[in-house]
Amino acid sequence: MTGTAKLLHEGKAKQVYATDDPEVVLIRFKDEATAFDGKKRGTIEAKGPINARISSILFTYLEANGVATHYLGTAGERDLLARRVTIIPVEVVVRNIAAGSLARRLGLAEGTNLELPVLELYLKDDELGDPMINRYHVRALGLAADAELETMEEAALRVNALLAAHLEPLGLRLVDFKLEFGRTAAGRLLLADEISPDTCRFWDVRTGEKLDKDRFRRDMGGVEEAYREVLRRLEAGQGG
Ligand code: UDP
Repeated sequence: MTGTAKLLHEGKAKQVYATDDPEVVLIRFKDEATAFDGKKRGTIEAKGPINARISSILFTYLEANGVATHYLGTAGERDLLARRVTIIPVEVVVRNIAAGSLARRLGLAEGTNLELPVLELYLKDDELGDPMINRYHVRALGLAADAELETMEEAALRVNALLAAHLEPLGLRLVDFKLEFGRTAAGRLLLADEISPDTCRFWDVRTGEKLDKDRFRRDMGGVEEAYREVLRRLEAGQGG
């Protein structure tokens, strides 16, 4: 990428640049970290390159297992190439174990096992604090077509099953995660955004230690080390 590439979008954790191909974008992962809808800010050393690598490994794994994603490949050490999409402003969260907002909302002890995966929808809107919504809101606000939402929900549950099965032997328990989807110019729905310790909760299977952004949210220290450990285990899982 040249220094003059056009910045199409800048979010809290990533920048999106145009490339020579109008259908392809370059996603640059930043070291900046935010939490609580941007109210807490900081920097996690080397987070960009680590999360770019983790996302690359996980998107590659999901694609190999039949999930349609925006991922095309890596570029620089903190950059991925992806199909250009318009992000649907609905965040899909899947949970296997109660933590974070679910634990608070339902008065469950963090770590309570959920008998079945729980899928939730949130409106992607920082100013409103990403309020929880349901299918009726999606329809009434015209956020996604019924068929798209169905595809998103099915894909999210499949991603959950695939990731949980892949991560468990690497000693990582998939507690919960958030996905975003987008549409290509041709109207194809693809899994987009990132999959990283910023957007997933990972607990060490043996010790229960948190290996994700909760270390930043809760000022626990060892954030970079935790992200590196997730990457190390994923690379071990690739045999390299
Ligand atoms: N999550 C995310 N972005 C958001 C909100 C949540 O990536 O804007 C992820 C979060 O990292 C966790 C899961 O979605 O893996 C569920 O988050 P929860 O609702 O418990 O959020 P919290 O209140 O803890 O921020």
